[in-house]
Amino acid sequence: MISAESRFKKYLQSRKKLIAGIGVVLACLFGPAVYRENFSEEIKNTSDLIRIVKEEEPRARKNSASRHIYWRYGKTPWGTAASAKISEEDYMIILDGRRNRTTICHELYHIYGGHCDKAFEKGDWTTADKIKNEITANLYAWYGLRL
Ligand SMILES: [Zn+2]
Repeated sequence: MISAESRFKKYLQSRKKLIAGIGVVLACLFGPAVYRENFSEEIKNTSDLIRIVKEEEPRARKNSASRHIYWRYGKTPWGTAASAKISEEDYMIILDGRRNRTTICHELYHIYGGHCDKAFEKGDWTTADKIKNEITANLYAWYGLRL
């Protein structure tokens, strides 16, 4: 009688190529995101932050006009980071527990994607809009995709 363990081993053996293929596809899809989240340049001090914002801002802005962007350290609802429009012309990035280049890319995408403008004008985003804004900001920060 063949044990369950050896049947499972035989099954795995017969599906080796399929399992490897799925592994390669998953690594290609999520590898860059995992890499960007875990190995992104860390912001250790204020000069790192200023330099990274300066480097990433033109890429996030693309062809639109430059905006006044300020920053501070502080508490945010998710303990990570946040961005907001604070006056007619000014935007603020608040850095909480997540301080790296990927975070700056994410928040700059929110600012230049107009995600902060509607909230400032007291127009409320629907939950679906908020989820879409987060997904698009992450796709930009992880893969450089502008949707
Ligand atoms: Zn976000």
